[in-house]
Amino acid sequence: MNPKGAQDKYVALIGNPNCGKTAIFNHLTGLNQKVSNYPGITVERKSGKLKCEFDDSIDVLDLPGTYSLTPESLDERVVAEQVMDWLHGINQPSAIISVVDATNLSRNLYLTTQLLDIGIPVILALNMMDIVKDRSVLPELSELEQRFGLSSAVPMSALEGWGIEELKSAIEQAITSPAPRKRKKLFEEHPEIHELLRPLSDYLLNQFNYSPRVARVQALRLITRQSAVDLYRPPHAGDHSFSDEVVREIEELRNQAVEKIKQSGLNHRTIEATIRYSWLDKLLKQSAQEEVLQLKEKTRSEKIDTVLTHSVLGPLIFIALLVFIFQAIFTWSSYPMDWIDNGVARFGEWVLSVMAPGILRELIVEGIIAGVGAVIIFLPQILILVFCMALLEDSGYMSRVAFMLDKFMTKAGLHGRSVLPLMSGYACAIPGIMASRNIDGWKERLITIMVLPLMSCSARLPVYALMIGAFIPASKVLGIINLQGLTLVVMYFLGTVTALIIAKILSKFIKERGRSSFVMELPPYRLPLMRSVFRQVYIRGKQFLMNAGKIIMAVSIVLWFLASFPKTVEENNAVNPIHNSFAGKIGHAIEPVIEPLGFDWKIGVGLITSFAAREVVVSTLATLYSVEDEGEDMVSLSESMKADINPKTGLPVFNTLVAISLMVFFVYAAQCLATFAIIKQETNSWKWPMIMIVYMTALAYVASLVVYQGGRLLGF
Ligand code: GDP
Ligand code: MG
Repeated sequence: MNPKGAQDKYVALIGNPNCGKTAIFNHLTGLNQKVSNYPGITVERKSGKLKCEFDDSIDVLDLPGTYSLTPESLDERVVAEQVMDWLHGINQPSAIISVVDATNLSRNLYLTTQLLDIGIPVILALNMMDIVKDRSVLPELSELEQRFGLSSAVPMSALEGWGIEELKSAIEQAITSPAPRKRKKLFEEHPEIHELLRPLSDYLLNQFNYSPRVARVQALRLITRQSAVDLYRPPHAGDHSFSDEVVREIEELRNQAVEKIKQSGLNHRTIEATIRYSWLDKLLKQSAQEEVLQLKEKTRSEKIDTVLTHSVLGPLIFIALLVFIFQAIFTWSSYPMDWIDNGVARFGEWVLSVMAPGILRELIVEGIIAGVGAVIIFLPQILILVFCMALLEDSGYMSRVAFMLDKFMTKAGLHGRSVLPLMSGYACAIPGIMASRNIDGWKERLITIMVLPLMSCSARLPVYALMIGAFIPASKVLGIINLQGLTLVVMYFLGTVTALIIAKILSKFIKERGRSSFVMELPPYRLPLMRSVFRQVYIRGKQFLMNAGKIIMAVSIVLWFLASFPKTVEENNAVNPIHNSFAGKIGHAIEPVIEPLGFDWKIGVGLITSFAAREVVVSTLATLYSVEDEGEDMVSLSESMKADINPKTGLPVFNTLVAISLMVFFVYAAQCLATFAIIKQETNSWKWPMIMIVYMTALAYVASLVVYQGGRLLGF
């Protein structure tokens, strides 16, 4: 905003998903980008300064992908709401850049026809020209400009990087001398429909000062979908709340119009599409053999699809890909994770050696450095997963996976695209939650996020390993199955099945906020643009470090404080302050609550410190049992655990039943604070992490209670 209160000049990129908006945006703005979220929701808002000669104050806004201005999904709603603002004179851009995929013109131009009705200059960016084999099938540019009333039409390729300068000139021209645009007449051949809509369009005309054209088009859109009516309703209407009365009036006139349309034998839901496509088809038929073009593009992708979505080969290839990706997340990331771990430890040692002993040194080494270490240790897994997802998404393969698995996943209230995020939850919930952004519908995305931490992540493995190693006999079941291995599988199974059940339950409770539109038409396969893939990796990594990192670090410091204070010196000079620390006190305090689960206060302390990360419970127990060489020496830890006698009961603290109860608790419990931090970032509110903490903790408690008390009743 400049001092006069007027808005800065900007242009907005609008287009179908995957038509290359972001690629063009990157060309126009360079690295000068700002990524934030739309208030209250998870959809990203990208803006940046236009790199150009003529004016250095023009912003570029990259809007989410949409097929139409009548919203079906959350992304589409963002665009529709933005356009509503423009219609009401708020924050209008100087020009709209309508990005279209030149290999699929008629589908893409549908949205363009809607944009042309707004009354803001429209520049048509004909992208993907590099894969148009035969240019002669495209309409003449000048003809396109004329008939559509475009400010200009610019052929280009964001992939090969040409046409960018021309696009910039087109922007300059649109801003400096918006040429008078010839009006296209949408209703010319449908005067009867215009008549049926007249009461509604007249009302809009008077109420909102719309131009006659905008009033007509808005009336048309209102009758097609309830979601178009909802755009006039708060809470959206932040800057221009319409009174309830107005909305009621609109709704009434709309319903009357819908009735009339039905009586005349038309379908009100498809009427806008019918009118626009018939208008478009006539235009395109005159100048182009559009169909020839589409067919070419189609056959190439169809050939690939005969293999990749084959009923047998398809799932096999997908499973192979999954195995490969998990290999990457689990195995390959262990190298950089080790480097980070060692690097952080070395750095800590170095600080220890150069600083004088004292609380400050302890804070820096055990609080801050360890805290930062806890954050960046996740980075390799996140980067690898985001990289793989970006490749799958940008190549068009992800849509096929979603397509193949959608039936099954929908039964559980999830989405075909939930599979990969959920699976990656076996490695770590955090990259999975970040990857859930590729799920179109808000509801399915939210449910995926909410059940993802139930998938047993790799941080639970050390806990399972300790308990199973110590308390589950290595005997064979049915002669072949190793009981220890079986127990481990059961734990993973328990989490996964529960995740599906909870997803089903949540889908009954969470209100739809923009239903996800499952587009059956699959996008053509494309070679991913590596620049854009790496940019996604960079942006996700940065977001994780900046947003979640802050919270994780703050919590690490608090936990360090709880475990290290108040300072006491024991008689034997043992460096074992955790006994008497605040954490120790809390452990004692919660003992009555966790006793019915079979846990004593030491496990209680472990449950508290495992908030930093689940595997920390192992090192905490090691500290509490004063095992030398923390964590490394599992045998001595399990030996001391087995030997520990509860002074109150005279019975061992640990036995097989306690171990199972504890493992079940770890399957369900909400413990990892990094996860909550990332959910707060992704859902933009503390509400969902709070709900998660409550439901998972309740689940963990009840499940452990049933296991322990049930086991005791059965005489274990
Ligand atoms: P958005 O969803 O509209 O933001 O589209 P993106 O910019 O993310 O691009 C989608 C896919 O199309 C990516 O894999 C890009 O590499 C690819 N792409 C973008 N522009 C072009 C282009 O001009 N030619 C070709 N062949 N591919 C492109
Ligand atoms: Mg994009």
